[in-house]
Amino acid sequence: MPLIDNYRRAHDDLRISVTDRCNFRCFYCMPEEGMNFLPQEEILTYEEMARVVRITTELGFVSYHLTGGEPLVRKNLDVLIRKMLEIQPDMDLALTTNGVFLPEMAQQLYDAGLRRVNISLDSLDESKFLLMTRRNLLGRVMEGIEAASKVGFNPIKINAVAIKNLTEEELPRFAKWARETGHIVRFIEYMPLDADKTWNREKVMSAEEILEGLSSEGDLELINGHPSDPATRYRYKDGKGEVGVIASVTRPFCEDCNRIRLTAEGEIRTCLFSAVEHNIKSLLRGKASDDEIKEWLAEVVRTKTPGHLIGQKEFVQPSRTMSSIGG
Ligand code: SF4
Repeated sequence: MPLIDNYRRAHDDLRISVTDRCNFRCFYCMPEEGMNFLPQEEILTYEEMARVVRITTELGFVSYHLTGGEPLVRKNLDVLIRKMLEIQPDMDLALTTNGVFLPEMAQQLYDAGLRRVNISLDSLDESKFLLMTRRNLLGRVMEGIEAASKVGFNPIKINAVAIKNLTEEELPRFAKWARETGHIVRFIEYMPLDADKTWNREKVMSAEEILEGLSSEGDLELINGHPSDPATRYRYKDGKGEVGVIASVTRPFCEDCNRIRLTAEGEIRTCLFSAVEHNIKSLLRGKASDDEIKEWLAEVVRTKTPGHLIGQKEFVQPSRTMSSIGG
């Protein structure tokens, strides 16, 4: 039986954060200093993650997304990828990475069977990249994108966080780049998941503003996508290039949400902005059978709220940062 919540949403997409560690310090996510990362023994093993994958495939899940922190800081990720594809060879499996380790690891990931990578890249300008990530590694990321392209990852999706008074100049730059390279650039509206809790609505660049900036490079037309796909996709009418917007704040897509999340230390989150979490690790490390875990997951999904409350007075920013949820 698929996991259906009280709003008739069927869930078939699991996002797995394989680590809370990251080699970047993006200001819209992490503090510059003072991150306390989880000790190894608190983190789920690849066997435990694979068991959750197997159980959820038996509940009709078909798409899986590996995230972090930065997932490639965790060793031997190809081992988990192989385990997952042994369980369900035709699963839709993607990885979101900041790209820094791809020059060395792209081939290994491709050989393990991975076919989709999303690369987080907020700016094509070195100084702005440094400002946003607090790392001077734009060159490495570009090498990583090149390496991923070379080994066969295609298309490559780029995720760029759009923030007022930072991203305006990036829009035509990324639009040109997307049209030249064929990489699909999606802009994500800035969400209240930052460690410093300095997010406010005024800093959000809306979908309208993003599309206006992207249209400076040509007329856009909507591409009909899957209703549960977070990104609204557009192509340039001259056929050169595809871009997208993930408008969680100004155009919420919660009514078609099909996702749940597994954190690195074994908490199930029914929503990115969940105020409550559900510990599956104690079940995995206890004596619970697969059927008991399936029942438990069905119960958990029935607690899912209709959607986020951003912009409403009831909204409470989650205590977790994006880095320990994994987007
Ligand atoms: S905010 Fe929550 S309910 Fe809405 S789309 Fe994201 S995960 Fe789903």
